[in-house]
Amino acid sequence: MNLKITLLPGDGIGPEVTKAAVKVLNYVAQKFDVATELISKDFGGVSIDNFGIPLTEETLQVCYKSNAVLLGAVGGHQWENLEHQKKPEAGLLKLRKNLGLFANIRPAKVYSSFLDASSLKNDVIEDTDFIVLRELTGGIYFGEPRGYNKSKGWNTMVYSENEVERIAHLAFKMAKDRNKKVTSVDKANVLEVSQFWRNVVQNIHQDYPDIQLENMYVDNAAMQIVRNPKQFDVILTSNIFGDILSDIAGMITGSLGMLPSASLGEKHALYEPVHGSAPDIAGQNAANPIAAIASVAMMLHHTFQMTKAAEILDEAIERTLKTGLRTTDIFKEQYKLASTTEMTDAIIENFEEIYNEQALGVFTL
Ligand code: NAD
Repeated sequence: MNLKITLLPGDGIGPEVTKAAVKVLNYVAQKFDVATELISKDFGGVSIDNFGIPLTEETLQVCYKSNAVLLGAVGGHQWENLEHQKKPEAGLLKLRKNLGLFANIRPAKVYSSFLDASSLKNDVIEDTDFIVLRELTGGIYFGEPRGYNKSKGWNTMVYSENEVERIAHLAFKMAKDRNKKVTSVDKANVLEVSQFWRNVVQNIHQDYPDIQLENMYVDNAAMQIVRNPKQFDVILTSNIFGDILSDIAGMITGSLGMLPSASLGEKHALYEPVHGSAPDIAGQNAANPIAAIASVAMMLHHTFQMTKAAEILDEAIERTLKTGLRTTDIFKEQYKLASTTEMTDAIIENFEEIYNEQALGVFTL
């Protein structure tokens, strides 16, 4: 098998964390005897500087031809005053749209050695492990009519049956490999579009009798995520609700530098850390590479079905944190300060160790 991946390192710390992720990816691929075929393209601010636009047609064509895209981050002060369509972030929206990425996955997993980084109490978040599955290409962010004038502003929240069906299928399939529970989050007590969403999800549920389905209003879900996050397995929700809930869920686990994400479509997939380009620490070998490396683990799992490799990589991250290594963003005085490259190398070492233990039958997954 060839892992054909387009790299879009982008701006700021994007290239640093992408380099770290690629080092890990190449190492894992070699261990699992698969080849990587990596093509790196300019994207975001660096593409504006070189080609005048954040996403060129050529870059898009390269993305279409690969199995997956690994993105760093885009943006920076020097491009902030450009008009909206010419900004680095506009390239991101165009990329997601053109690749047809209708589902966004954000895991909310608490590393056991990282409990003290959360603003919530240890006993509340301990063993939390759920995902927020957000519909990404429909709903109120794209619905027409939209606009505003002097006296009013308006948007339209609309979902077609097909849009809800495809993401509901994905949610139930994901729950099958996890703890077999889907919580569909909506506002069906107020919004007709949510009632429709709920009806479609309930219909699709009939194909998955072994999965538990519960419906929850979004206001209650926001409260439940901070009250008792352990109750969730897969949260399935619309674009706007998922936008908000995934940020809440992300923060219960600690730092921005730790959060990976995946965006999936019917033909394409994009993996990226949740954080931005962090211009304040760019070029200092100080960025936390864990979000980017954990995005590689998601890629191995979702695009390449290399479940074992993904599991070992997640475990290697956990083990590295257990050794007390911390980048600046998550550093406290009882820990050992690590640079981007030191953290990356430690994760590779731990990967090697777990891999060897497993080969000897010591470690059981
Ligand atoms: P940011 O995520 O870049 O940074 C917020 C804070 O978190 C900063 O203090 C930064 O140093 C820290 N941080 C972020 N990631 C880190 C990491 N891996 N390791 C250590 N510390 C980390 O958000 P921002 O400052 O609001 O935005 C900066 C630029 O990034 C803007 O141009 C914004 O538009 C862009 N942005 C891009 C994306 C993306 O590419 N997907 C997402 C968000 C923001």
